[in-house]
Amino acid sequence: MWWKDLRATLSQSINVEGISLSASVLVKDHHLILPHVLVPDIRYIDWGELQRRGFKGVVFDKDNTITVPYSLALWGPLVSSIERCKSVFGNDIAVFSNSAGLFEYDHDDSKARALEKAVGIEVIRHRVKKPAGTAEEIEKHFGCKSSQLVMVGDRPFTDIVYGNQNGLLTVLTEPLSLAEEPFIVRQVRKLEMSLLNYWLKRGIKPISHDLLPDAMECVKDPTPL
Ligand SMILES: [Mg+2]
Repeated sequence: MWWKDLRATLSQSINVEGISLSASVLVKDHHLILPHVLVPDIRYIDWGELQRRGFKGVVFDKDNTITVPYSLALWGPLVSSIERCKSVFGNDIAVFSNSAGLFEYDHDDSKARALEKAVGIEVIRHRVKKPAGTAEEIEKHFGCKSSQLVMVGDRPFTDIVYGNQNGLLTVLTEPLSLAEEPFIVRQVRKLEMSLLNYWLKRGIKPISHDLLPDAMECVKDPTPL
């Protein structure tokens, strides 16, 4: 069992599908790593504005987006923003993670169930790691088109590439804590951010989203704690 867990942890850190897809992102599809919105954390997102624009639900990455890595508890300062998001979108929010709910890593479903119990947000079960895979599970879960959903995550090569490829509005947050991350993940993150900044400086723009052509309209100053 320890080998199964170790292998799952390693494969969570070294995402083979992600790496091969990243090669194509580096060469020709560089706009895919550009988020529509870049914010320090989810407190800067105006959930009400997103709903007014026609979005039906929100998909959150887990690690370093709403919890610190390997934790099952929401990061304290984000609780009020999550509550606001729930009050706007009701049950139409979910976690889509490469840890909890990913069959390969969470083979007995225990992490997904524990996270649902701890944070009160449903976890979408899936078999293919972001950024690979389609939006099939997500569309089935929400009962709407993926273009009516928002993907929020902290990794350009996984969360943002996945969201852009599948037509979601993409929001990139800064990571909550680097202390828990394995060394290799920190190095890949640095590379991702360098590339993102490189393309932004050269005027490459994200693919425009029909429901929110000026994506910055959903960004607000965070509510003071
Ligand atoms: Mg993450």
